[in-house]
Amino acid sequence: MKAQGYFGGTFDPIHNGHLSVAQQLIDKLALETLWFLPAGSPWQRTPQADAQHRLAMVKLALSNYPYFKVDEREVHRQGLTYTIDTLKEIRAEQGGSVPLWFVIGADSFLNLTTWHNWQELLNYCHLAVACRPDYSVNEDKLSPQLRSLLIKHYDSDPQNVNDPAGKLSIINIEESPISATAVRHCLQQHKDIQSVVPNSVYHYIHQHHLYQ
Ligand code: ATP
Repeated sequence: MKAQGYFGGTFDPIHNGHLSVAQQLIDKLALETLWFLPAGSPWQRTPQADAQHRLAMVKLALSNYPYFKVDEREVHRQGLTYTIDTLKEIRAEQGGSVPLWFVIGADSFLNLTTWHNWQELLNYCHLAVACRPDYSVNEDKLSPQLRSLLIKHYDSDPQNVNDPAGKLSIINIEESPISATAVRHCLQQHKDIQSVVPNSVYHYIHQHHLYQ
C-alpha cells in the first residue's frame, strides 16, 4: 500500500525551501501524495498573514505539481490548531492500515516535546525529519526525551515501511537555508525575494501588500 505524506506548517509564506523539502521527501519516502497542511491558528505563534492569504499562497505554489495537494482542514477549523487532532482525523478517514508520514524540519523536531500530546503522535503516523542548516539532530546532542524517542522508533529504511505508524526517520536531503522569517525580514527591508519564493507567490505578496 502506497504511503501518504503530510507536511504541516504555518507557511507564512510558503517558500522554495518548503518545495525543496517536499520534492526530495516524496522520493525518499516513496509517497503517493504529499499533502500540505497549512495551520489555521497555530497555538505556539501568531502568523503575520491571515490564514486565507497563507492558504492562497500554498495553492498557487503547488499548482504545477500534481503529486502535491493541499489539505485545508486546519484553516477551516475553529480554535487553535493542534497537530495531534489533525492526525487523529486523518487516520480515521484513511483507515488503520495505510502508512502515513508526517514531515517536519529539524528545527520542529528539536521542539517536538513542546507540542500538545507529543507522546501520542507516533500512534497515528510515522515522523520524517528533514535536515535543515543550523539544526543538528545528532543523537548525542538531543535532549534525553528526544534521544529515547529516536532510539525506540528509529527506522533507517523509510522507503520500505509497511506499518501504518510508529517509525521515526531522519532524512538526509540537500539542505536549503531559506526560512519564512528571512523572507518576511527581506520584505520589511524592501529587499528582493524573487529567488526564494515561487513566482506566483512573489506576485501575490506584492499584489496584497503582505509583510510590509
Ligand atoms: P519561520 O521562519 O516563520 O519559522 P519556516 O521557514 O520554518 O517559518 P514553517 O511554515 O514554519 O516555515 O515550516 C513548516 C515546516 O517546514 C516545519 O516543520 C519546518 O521545520 C520545515 N521547514 C521550513 N523550511 C525548511 C527548510 N529550509 N529546510 C527544512 N525544513 C524546513
